[in-house]
Amino acid sequence: MRMKFFVANWKMNKTVKESLNFLRDFIPLIKEIKDREIGIAPTFVCLESVGKTLENTPIKLCAQNVFYEKKGAYTGEISPTMLKDLNVEYVIIGHSERRKYFQETDEVINRKIKASIDEQLKVIFCIGEIIEERQSNMTFDVLKRQIEKGLENINNPSSIVLAYEPVWAIGTGIVASEKQIEEAHAFIRDKLKEIYSEKADSVRILYGGSVTPENIHAIINIDNVDGVLVGGASLDAQKFSKIVKYEKQK
Ligand code: PEP
Repeated sequence: MRMKFFVANWKMNKTVKESLNFLRDFIPLIKEIKDREIGIAPTFVCLESVGKTLENTPIKLCAQNVFYEKKGAYTGEISPTMLKDLNVEYVIIGHSERRKYFQETDEVINRKIKASIDEQLKVIFCIGEIIEERQSNMTFDVLKRQIEKGLENINNPSSIVLAYEPVWAIGTGIVASEKQIEEAHAFIRDKLKEIYSEKADSVRILYGGSVTPENIHAIINIDNVDGVLVGGASLDAQKFSKIVKYEKQK
C-alpha cells in the first residue's frame, strides 16, 4: 500500500516570517489528516525555523537541493549531513530548474542521490521531458535515460520517491492530460520493476506540473499516481490544503 504523498516545493519564495505565517494558517487545516503524507520544502534559510514549527505535526521537512560532498571548500553549498542535522527527512533532487539553470547532469544527480541515501535522507527524484522531446516522441527515451543514470548503482529503492514532472507543465498552467500522465507513470513503474523487481511496487511516483485544487481530483485518481509535487499552488495555505484534501476550490 503506497500512502499518497503531497509535497510543497516553495522554490525561491517566502522569507522566514512568510513561511511561518503560512504554517500558522496551514497546520490547523490539515491536522485531522492521517491517511496521507505531507511534505514542505522551504528555502535553505528557512529550514531551521520551519523545522521547529513542524515538530509535533505530521508534516515532513523537505529540502529543495543538496550537494554530494560531506564538507569542504564548496562555497555556497549545503551537505546531506547539514540537512540531516536540521531534521530534514526528504530532499528534492534533479528538479528541472536545477537541471536547466544550474546545469545539473544525470551524473551529478546520481551522486547527490547516493550521498543523501548514505546520510539516511529520503530522496524525491525528479524526472521529465522538455516540450521539444515530447514533440519528437522522445519522452520515454528521456525518462529511461534519467532513471537509469540517476539510479545507477543504487541497489535498494526504499528511500526513493520518483516525481514525474513534464517540464512544459511546470509553472505554465498547462497540465499533462490524464492519458499522458497514466502512460508516463506506467512506463516509470515498469522501468523500476526492471531494475528492482517486486521492490518497485512500493516506490511512490508523484506527478508534478500545474497541480491546483481544480485538477487534483482527476490527477490523484490516475493509476500509479501516488501523490503530487506542487509549486505555485503550494504557496497559498488554503489552496495547498485543498489539494491535500482533494477539495475543489469554491
Ligand atoms: C514544481 O516546481 O515542481 C512544480 C510542479 O511547479 P508548479 O506546480 O508551479 O507547476
